[in-house]
Amino acid sequence: MAPDSSPDSHPLPIWRRALRAVALWFDTSAAPADTGDPDRVAWLRVLPFVGLHLACLGVIWVGFSWFAFWTAVVLYAARMFAITGFYHRYFSHKAFRTSRPVQFAFAVLGAASVQRGPLWWAAHHRHHHRHADTDQDVHSPRHGFWRSHMIWFLTPRGFRTDLEAVRDLARFPELRLLDRFDILVPVLLAAGLYALGAWLEGAYPGLGTNGPQLLIWGFFVSTVVLFHVTVTINSLAHRWGSRRFATRDDSRNNALLALLTFGEGWHNNHHHYPGSARQGFAWYELDLTYLGLRLMALLGLVSDLRPVPEALRHVRREAA
Ligand SMILES: [Zn+2]
Ligand SMILES: [Zn+2]
Repeated sequence: MAPDSSPDSHPLPIWRRALRAVALWFDTSAAPADTGDPDRVAWLRVLPFVGLHLACLGVIWVGFSWFAFWTAVVLYAARMFAITGFYHRYFSHKAFRTSRPVQFAFAVLGAASVQRGPLWWAAHHRHHHRHADTDQDVHSPRHGFWRSHMIWFLTPRGFRTDLEAVRDLARFPELRLLDRFDILVPVLLAAGLYALGAWLEGAYPGLGTNGPQLLIWGFFVSTVVLFHVTVTINSLAHRWGSRRFATRDDSRNNALLALLTFGEGWHNNHHHYPGSARQGFAWYELDLTYLGLRLMALLGLVSDLRPVPEALRHVRREAA
């Protein structure tokens, strides 16, 4: 991979930089590494991310229905499970095994979360575990709350995918294709929700929903909440909570975050032993993703869930 250009080396004309940023909205491999400061926000490229947030204001015009609300909740839950169970525990950590079709199905559902493709996600996450809370960790809260929460991936450095870190995943052409055109999945989800709402308005007017309403609640509100809850594991779970294990990083266990993220909040457990499919080590540490994976194992969809070593299951609540 070409080294970064330094900020003062022949900047491209502004129209070429603009075209390049817009091309990256649709095809993440459309342009070589950005020139300029790799740690500054690439504003033009991230306009869709800004738009995702602004679109939530649409609730003022489209109003509320319980159907739209529950659609948002179900899509939050399904996509959170895809992120924690598959993007994190499977693609990043290989904590269990599955078939190629199931791997792809959950890669697509994960991509519907608008958190890029599984290769990008896993590459950055593996980097996080290697360098957690050091200078090289791009989303350590030691660099400030907002940088750890979201600024890190709005930059050219955060946009790139280190394919060397995910060679085991990059050998699947369908995953590489999904990573390249990941935006297609959320666009299809948004269009599908609009079409469903428009149909329900005519077919079941008692539900009180319509196309714009289902689009705003089911896609925009659900996705923005899902996003901000997911990234609290980078920003808050390295700040708030207790430390059972004296890991080299600042990771914490936090019951509230574990509930909202379906088990990811047992983050100090996870940094201590990242290889297990289960992150709540003690019986009272609720880990909904692990329960979901157990169910999938019963149905024969996944197998070989890597266990928490016995010695770690009976540890004390706090580090001594
Ligand atoms: Zn961490
Ligand atoms: Zn991890």
